[in-house]
Amino acid sequence: MLTDALKRLWLRAWSLVLMEMTSQEIGWLLRPRDHMSLLTSRRTTIIVTRVRLMAGLFALFTPLWIVADVFAFQPEVWHGLAAARLGATIAFVLILVAARRMDTIQNAYRALAMLFAIPMLFFLFTYQHMAHFEMHGFEAAFSTGYAFLPFVVVAGLSIFPLTLAECLAFAGPILAFQSLAAVMRWPVLDWPTVAASLWLLILITAVSALAGLSQLAFMIVLVRENIRDSMTGCFSRPSGEELIDLQFTLARRSGMALSLAFLDLDHFKEINDRYGHDAGDEVLIKTSTTIRNRMRMGDMLVRWGGEEFLLVMPNTDRLQALTALERLTEQGLGLRPNGTPVTASIGLAEISTDDSLNWKELVEIADKRMYRAKTSGRNRIVADDMPLNL
Ligand code: GH3
Ligand code: MG
Ligand code: MG
Repeated sequence: MLTDALKRLWLRAWSLVLMEMTSQEIGWLLRPRDHMSLLTSRRTTIIVTRVRLMAGLFALFTPLWIVADVFAFQPEVWHGLAAARLGATIAFVLILVAARRMDTIQNAYRALAMLFAIPMLFFLFTYQHMAHFEMHGFEAAFSTGYAFLPFVVVAGLSIFPLTLAECLAFAGPILAFQSLAAVMRWPVLDWPTVAASLWLLILITAVSALAGLSQLAFMIVLVRENIRDSMTGCFSRPSGEELIDLQFTLARRSGMALSLAFLDLDHFKEINDRYGHDAGDEVLIKTSTTIRNRMRMGDMLVRWGGEEFLLVMPNTDRLQALTALERLTEQGLGLRPNGTPVTASIGLAEISTDDSLNWKELVEIADKRMYRAKTSGRNRIVADDMPLNL
């Protein structure tokens, strides 16, 4: 009864999530290659935070368990175990410290790989070490607990929002480790037990992978809902700031160009005043759609405020950006309710030519130039601080 109800709930949750997802987003569940940068940065933060949490817990409990080992095992056994535990504790503390400043997904992978590698190495060591001793009764029962480590590790996969490919990449070596441990005891191998435990390990891996995937699915939907402005479909201001911050850091690191254009629609209030707020909304939706349809792949449009937009153009220098903006405005941004063209005042800033220290300064420069475009007559682009030929 209960399992049936749980099963139905599980299926319903899945169908709800998948129903809300586009086919592109379902593809994102399989592999990380085409993930958008905001999803990657959120995932990186979550993975690194959880790796640190786990490393912290392990760093605490691994040495504490020495007390239990002392009670359970003969001295020769627990001496070796204690040494291995201290080694593992140091490794966990190292992860805790190293992961503090990790901000790329590659680093997150590294942290995750280390987090899983330490208990698996510990497992291999204890497996070999304990094989040298004759154990009976309580001691033997306690020692079997160590054989469960690989199961704990694959179950640990479930707390990370990983794609299917990532789950397989991390679980593969663990399954290989388990098989290796079995092969190391080749002469006394109990085949049915080994096969059963490998099968159980595969089952737990599958459940963990599903748990990780469902986390990722929820995350994709949440990120999508949070990052878009519901009316225009542009990036919202908070996610736009995060995006620009990210692009700024990337451009600074790689030495590539980055242009920002600040667009403010001209005499917009007049549309609201004459034709009503709904007509104003419609112009905003149409104009932003027009800009998005015309911009280059990789460019991003952020709704910065009411009728103000920021066009983020990675890998685009000032001249290329100016050409693109001139083409955009020449083709027209759409029509006002009275049939006259929608126009905008645009300020352009570029990371290297404007030599700004941080992304906020770059936005400020673009904003100031937009303001100069306004005061010098509107419907124009200002790309530098030279006096305007009016
Ligand atoms: P300027 O050429 O100097 O930019 O003139 P403007 O009228 O565009 O400038 P102003 O900043 O004074 O007005 C912006 C207007 O945009 C005011 C506000 O009512 C309107 N607005 C802001 N957000 C929305 C929105 O979501 N929908 C509608 N319909 N109007 C909005
Ligand atoms: Mg304005
Ligand atoms: Mg305006």
